[in-house]
Amino acid sequence: MVKLAEWMGKGIFRKHGIPTPVGVVVRSAEEAEAATRTGRVPLPCVVKAQVLAGGRGKGGAVQFANTPAEAALATRSILALEFKGEKVREVLLEQKVSILREFYLSFALDRSLRMPILMASAQGGVEVESVPEEAILRIPIHPFVGLAGYERRQVIRLFGLSGPAAKSLDDLLDRAWGVFQSEDAELVEINPLGLVGSGVIALDAKVVIEDDAAFRHPEYSEVRDDRTPLEEIAREKGIAFVQLDGNIGVIANGAGLTMATLDVLAEFGGRPGVFLDLGGTDDPGKVTEAFLLMAKAMPRAVFLNIFGGVTRCDTVATGLVEAMKQVPASERFPLVARIRGNNEAEGVAILKSAGVTSLSDLKESVQATVRAAEVPVEAPRGTVA
Ligand code: ADP
Ligand code: MG
Repeated sequence: MVKLAEWMGKGIFRKHGIPTPVGVVVRSAEEAEAATRTGRVPLPCVVKAQVLAGGRGKGGAVQFANTPAEAALATRSILALEFKGEKVREVLLEQKVSILREFYLSFALDRSLRMPILMASAQGGVEVESVPEEAILRIPIHPFVGLAGYERRQVIRLFGLSGPAAKSLDDLLDRAWGVFQSEDAELVEINPLGLVGSGVIALDAKVVIEDDAAFRHPEYSEVRDDRTPLEEIAREKGIAFVQLDGNIGVIANGAGLTMATLDVLAEFGGRPGVFLDLGGTDDPGKVTEAFLLMAKAMPRAVFLNIFGGVTRCDTVATGLVEAMKQVPASERFPLVARIRGNNEAEGVAILKSAGVTSLSDLKESVQATVRAAEVPVEAPRGTVA
């Protein structure tokens, strides 16, 4: 999922002829002062944190400024924010417009309908979450037919627009659908879509590009996201790897077992710090790579919880034993292994030959992991189970 920041989304909108306020991205208070003083951004202006989380308006991450000094001040305060855990690195300054009404509009991929769907509400803006279901218009769009004129008119009627405003909405709907299709988006959301004068204008932009289409859009490959350097390496290797706050590493297979393992560890007082989902693989080499990556995350202990199916127990054991040979001494970690299922006996035997005992009881192995993680770091790291 490639989520684009608002300013990038608006850049795409402009490319497709969707009106947006004049705006500039800045990374410092000085730049904000200059941009407003020189009139590149007309005053009064809006100062908006470029974070991927929503709800900025309510969370102090959207401010208004009347002078260059105020723009600088607002920019400084927003750059100091950590909004919903995300550091603010960029700020969008844009012309403040006089909004007559705020609507909600989006095109999204509805995975259960297997079709794109248009959603619209006459009550858009920061309170959109409290809009009742019945006040949201939902129109599935047949991908081959596209957005039809009568469907656009349904939205125009819902918003109660006529004359030039209706014409402007009709045009915008067509263009927003164009963005959704040609950019391979899974979401194009405009909230609010503002009625300003007698036309509609996109005041916010949330564009998410479908991952599977990322190769068709090299222009987004540089998009900053929140992956850690290790997560970035994992992504390149096709390994599902996520870093959290705790100190225990979890290696499991399948999202369900991985999540359940995290839960059980937490239940017994452990703090998962990184997890890795081996998924389905029959390649011990991939398992080795995954282990080496886990070692780089420097967990205090690792719990390997495998239910052998497509990924056989012996495949995992072979990969693990190979990784143990390659892990540098400084990155060794205490390991608790529990491998059950397909080819369990072979897997257990391979582990045993490398000095690793596989426990079969879940509770016992979770407790052993939590205990191992509590051992002070100064103690020699080694294989405990
Ligand atoms: P978020 O969705 O994160 O809360 P928005 O971009 O939707 O952030 O902005 C929140 C509110 O700020 C909008 O609902 C709108 O009322 C106001 N706003 C945003 N941009 C402008 C603008 N250029 N001019 C005037 N008001 C704006
Ligand atoms: Mg918004």
